[in-house]
Amino acid sequence: MTFTPEHELFRDSVRAFVAAEIAPHVNAWDEAQTFPRELYRRAAHIGLLGLGYPEAYGGTPADGWFRLIATEEIARAGSGGLMASLFSHNIGLPPLVAHGSEALKRRIVPAVLAGERIAALAITEPSGGSDVARLRCRARRDDGHWVIDGDKTFITSGMRADWITLAVRTGGPGGAGISLIAVPGDAPGLTRTPLAKMGWWCSDTAQLHFEGVRVPADHLIGAENAGFRMVMDNFNGERLLMSAGACAFAQVCFDEALDWARQRRTFGVALVEHQVTRHKLMDMHMRLASTRAWLHAMVERQEAGDTGAHWVAELCLLKNHATQTLQWCADAAVQILGGMGYMRGTRCERIYREVKVMMIGGGAEEIMKELAARQLGI
Ligand SMILES: Cc1cc2nc3c(=O)[nH]c(=O)nc-3n(C[C@H](O)[C@H](O)[C@H](O)COP(=O)(O)OP(=O)(O)OC[C@H]3O[C@@H](n4cnc5c(N)ncnc54)[C@H](O)[C@@H]3O)c2cc1C
Repeated sequence: MTFTPEHELFRDSVRAFVAAEIAPHVNAWDEAQTFPRELYRRAAHIGLLGLGYPEAYGGTPADGWFRLIATEEIARAGSGGLMASLFSHNIGLPPLVAHGSEALKRRIVPAVLAGERIAALAITEPSGGSDVARLRCRARRDDGHWVIDGDKTFITSGMRADWITLAVRTGGPGGAGISLIAVPGDAPGLTRTPLAKMGWWCSDTAQLHFEGVRVPADHLIGAENAGFRMVMDNFNGERLLMSAGACAFAQVCFDEALDWARQRRTFGVALVEHQVTRHKLMDMHMRLASTRAWLHAMVERQEAGDTGAHWVAELCLLKNHATQTLQWCADAAVQILGGMGYMRGTRCERIYREVKVMMIGGGAEEIMKELAARQLGI
């Protein structure tokens, strides 16, 4: 892909934003297990939150390459947790934008894209996340309202979300009984509990308990019992972004390892002069090159509207490939940095702790293979 001057200008502006507003603070935010809410507004101000959303709701229409560039540049700060929470609206809003009523969209979307409100997506439950069709959290109609009872877990932005796109059972068993409802984060009867994690420390992750939570009936997103399809379509966007993120974080590992290998001296020469180190770097480079080429091919196909079953299958496999590349590169980078790679404050130390969530969240590896096989008729 040859990027246009507009793409390159956008890259420059995001790079400057990351260098000034994120990179200097990201270690402290990770240690504090949070980041300032004000960052949403600042990210919105340079058009990051509204990227790819309709102008009518405060967004900036943009092709898939802009989103790829944004992901690559935000990744330079080396914090997947920051990326997950700052952009949780990218999994929370799309079903609403595609299927919500005009009134609901006007009420929720502009404020989120302006960085004034935070949006989250809640699918996963304590009883399981992979088997979405069996989710248990239930909503029943009562006097012009939905009354919601049940639990969600591992929800990104769960503590501070102002709006939660919630998957609930409104009908019978299976995927055909699932709906999506927009639930205000401050709804009475909703209890939120923060969760401690292996990585993504500055990301807000929560368990949500719904007990008799009442929301107006018109908060239903799209048709009743049509939520499963929306959830599956939404996963495609999330998986592409996760693949781009994995590739970008793997590149950060390569860059940090190369920089270190050039400076660090052992046995009288720079680390990079040792053949073993050079080979590790080339193994990283090889995996990065194949992942990036595949990622670009997928974005190109998406831009051409070629997003049928074959694209979905390849996307599932790309997510696995990209996250395996990330795993390999994070491991190699920490090894090249030696003891320093084990110390907090290096980017590869943090990224190493963030690998597994990329291989589990948004559809775990095993599920990706099953889904790909099914899409390919195997
Ligand atoms: C930090 C973090 C943030 C998250 N953010 C969100 C969020 O914002 N919103 C949200 O809804 N969810 C979120 N998730 C949840 C995530 O999507 C789920 O963890 C994921 O889908 C897997 O579900 P599970 O953890 O319940 O694992 P399970 O479904 O219990 O599966 C456990 C393991 O068994 C494997 N497995 C399951 N079924 C099979 C099978 N048939 N064959 C072989 N292996 C199988 C899985 O691949 C997995 O490895 C987040 C998770 C984390 C860790």
